[in-house]
Amino acid sequence: MKGSMNWALKLLPSIIQSMTVLDGLGTGRLGFSAQEANLDYLAAVLNFSELRDSLLAKVSNSVISNKEITSFHSTQSGITASLSDGSELEAALLVVAEGRNSKLAELISPDKTETDYQQIAKTFLVHIPELDNDRAIQIFHETEIFALMPYKKEGVSNTFSVVWSMPKNGLATKSQDELLPELLKFERKLACSIEPITEILSFPLFAHHLKEYCDDGICAIADSAHSIHPLAGQGINLGLADASILAEEIARGFNAGQNIGHISFLKKYELRRKAINGAMLNGVDLLFKIFQQDNPYFRVFRNLGLKTVDNFSYLKKQFIFHASGVYKI
Ligand SMILES: Cc1cc2nc3c(=O)[nH]c(=O)nc-3n(C[C@H](O)[C@H](O)[C@H](O)COP(=O)(O)OP(=O)(O)OC[C@H]3O[C@@H](n4cnc5c(N)ncnc54)[C@H](O)[C@@H]3O)c2cc1C
Repeated sequence: MKGSMNWALKLLPSIIQSMTVLDGLGTGRLGFSAQEANLDYLAAVLNFSELRDSLLAKVSNSVISNKEITSFHSTQSGITASLSDGSELEAALLVVAEGRNSKLAELISPDKTETDYQQIAKTFLVHIPELDNDRAIQIFHETEIFALMPYKKEGVSNTFSVVWSMPKNGLATKSQDELLPELLKFERKLACSIEPITEILSFPLFAHHLKEYCDDGICAIADSAHSIHPLAGQGINLGLADASILAEEIARGFNAGQNIGHISFLKKYELRRKAINGAMLNGVDLLFKIFQQDNPYFRVFRNLGLKTVDNFSYLKKQFIFHASGVYKI
């Protein structure tokens, strides 16, 4: 999330001031810090339930729960949506934000690009007494990607959230007890002890991108429109930028006294977001492929590349501005 966000929801996030990317098999190292980009912080990590509860409290009067939109059709004034209990809702615009497996988004655009990374992400919380709790770390080790992000947990200090991606048909088939000794290589790399404090959850990793984000009276945002490998921690940033640009286009339509669900406003949102989302998806895909290479010559080149970029302050600032959401259009 962007380094200058106004915390209107009064949540207390964990703040990331610096990030280190390490090649697990070499000496390659790339460091980013908020200070070098003149930002208050690089990123913020929020607890999902706290965020959801705060948002719900803000809009509790206008929320319908436990019902799904099963289908929709266009009318003269906008959209009529049918709900799972048989009732109907009418609106000028229906914004689809129901995640990667959205059926409604598929109705907007059955055409999409898709990548199955053949990887599983294991997520859990750990306690690491030796690490500063404003620092994020990412280690690329052969086909595994091990990411640590500071995470606030009541009663436990120096807690980090782990996202550990691994091959679906390899390491990911191991039981929790067999998997934990595999942490040793990361403990050695970081000269610290990693103590898991929650159970391990698994998520299969895919990416997808809709060919079109909208139709008359309806549009898809965030993971409904595009999903991405979590290695760059960009999923929700792209979604928030979609929401912010869509809000701008809605305001433009509203101020002009126009129907906000008109395809011309929605296409402007699509135009402003699709290329940048596509570029991020392709960039992360390329990064994934570079770090999956096992060739020793390539590894030397990769380690050299990391060290070279580490010395280019301008380039690093551009990375930070893209990743932290300063550039969203
Ligand atoms: C392992 C892993 C690690 C990640 N790490 C990061 C990270 O570090 N940083 C980052 O920015 N991103 C990360 N992401 C990506 C991030 O989680 C997603 O980009 C983000 O959750 C997308 O938000 P969303 O609201 O679009 O979809 P979701 O979070 O999927 O939310 C969609 C919601 O809609 C609800 N829903 C679904 N269908 C319906 C329906 N028909 N009616 C009503 N409700 C419905 C679902 O129950 C869900 O609550 C990670 C993803 C994974 C898998």
